[in-house]
Amino acid sequence: MSAVSNSATELSTVVIVGTGIAGASAAQTLRSEGFRGRVVLIGDEPSPPYRRPTVSKDLLSGATPAEKTALKPDSFWRERDIELITGATAVALDTGTRCLTLSSGESLYFDALLLATGGRARRLDGVSGAHVFTLRSMGDADSLRESIRRTGSLLVIGGGLIGCEVAATARSLGAEVTVLERDRSLLSRIVPPEVSTMIASLHSENGVDVCTDVALSSLEATDGGTARATADDGRTWSAGTVLVSVGAVPEVTLAVAAGLRADNGITVDEQFRTSADGVFAAGDAANIPGAHDDERYRSEHWNSAQAQGIAAAQSILGKSEPFTDVPWGWSTQYGHTVQFAGVTRFDDDYVVRGSIADRDFTAVAVREDIPVGVIAVGRPKELRTLRMRLRRP
Ligand SMILES: Cc1cc2nc3c(=O)[nH]c(=O)nc-3n(C[C@H](O)[C@H](O)[C@H](O)COP(=O)(O)OP(=O)(O)OC[C@H]3O[C@@H](n4cnc5c(N)ncnc54)[C@H](O)[C@@H]3O)c2cc1C
Repeated sequence: MSAVSNSATELSTVVIVGTGIAGASAAQTLRSEGFRGRVVLIGDEPSPPYRRPTVSKDLLSGATPAEKTALKPDSFWRERDIELITGATAVALDTGTRCLTLSSGESLYFDALLLATGGRARRLDGVSGAHVFTLRSMGDADSLRESIRRTGSLLVIGGGLIGCEVAATARSLGAEVTVLERDRSLLSRIVPPEVSTMIASLHSENGVDVCTDVALSSLEATDGGTARATADDGRTWSAGTVLVSVGAVPEVTLAVAAGLRADNGITVDEQFRTSADGVFAAGDAANIPGAHDDERYRSEHWNSAQAQGIAAAQSILGKSEPFTDVPWGWSTQYGHTVQFAGVTRFDDDYVVRGSIADRDFTAVAVREDIPVGVIAVGRPKELRTLRMRLRRP
């Protein structure tokens, strides 16, 4: 197979770690941009690339079978001569010799490496046991579904996006559901209080017990085979299944062990280059520069990871444009889709069009008179237009 040249170097092998949307998009882009060398796409999950957002929604409910969540048909990777290796963990990286070692012992030499290792669910110290779950992957969804069905009750610790989605999905499975949130409102990191209130009432209407201001002091197994959570103020809750859903941490183990710079994600420049020559990072694992010198951020949205994977592949080929994407994503609960773009803060001011209570609105976050974020329900076109006008984070 012949190599293509780019402005910086002659590339013959590009290796990508992570079969999530960032890694998969990068592999696809290398081919669509005309790269004819070897492309190896490695992931530790057993399945080929799939749509991770389904994990808390229709995959968890069982409405969509696993094979229907595939990002592409298997033939897609073969036809593009992308060597897809699943069920393999990259365990060591030598940036000097440009060698990646897999859990099987196999060594892969590369000219360029993309780390698209994503994130993993954050855990809570001291909270573990047979009924305690976290949710990140297809495999996690299978175990959680089985436990919800078997026990009929779910306690969700953490009222963020994934916690709220799982609460909604568990209701569709007929479970009794309680959400415990440490803050005063649900989704408080990304939406203003009025939208939190609307989302909380959506859950209450659907039979979820939403408890806020909960400082959890313990979670223990009872003799009856359930878990009992106790808060500092003495409140207690019991359920057969517990989901710990308190955010994600970037998966930087391989990068850090290899000596790459990392701080809340693998540090990259505007072309997705890490601190090691020939090594790039993108997606949830990457900490990327913002619009201003002192601002950096890490996105945790599907569309952003896709855009970064594409941009990183172009950068590997020496074709990159400045990356100006504003992060954006969505969440679906009880058939309502909340879309959001930009990076909002709890102290932003909001200008609202439509009615939040009626679940038909756009709310534009304004900071120092500049629009920095949008949240919308039922108005995808407005969101799209406004997204283009946001200041980059
Ligand atoms: C349950 C859930 C629901 C979500 N829903 C939404 C939604 O509705 N809307 C939205 O915008 N976003 C959603 N997201 C976020 C979105 O899915 C992520 O932003 C996106 O998947 C990030 O893609 P990625 O490729 O960067 O990383 P990931 O999707 O995390 O993929 C990284 C892959 O790399 C693998 N890996 C890590 N280290 C190694 C290694 N050393 N060797 C081999 N493989 C390795 C991981 O196992 C994983 O398969 C959701 C996330 C979750 C967990």
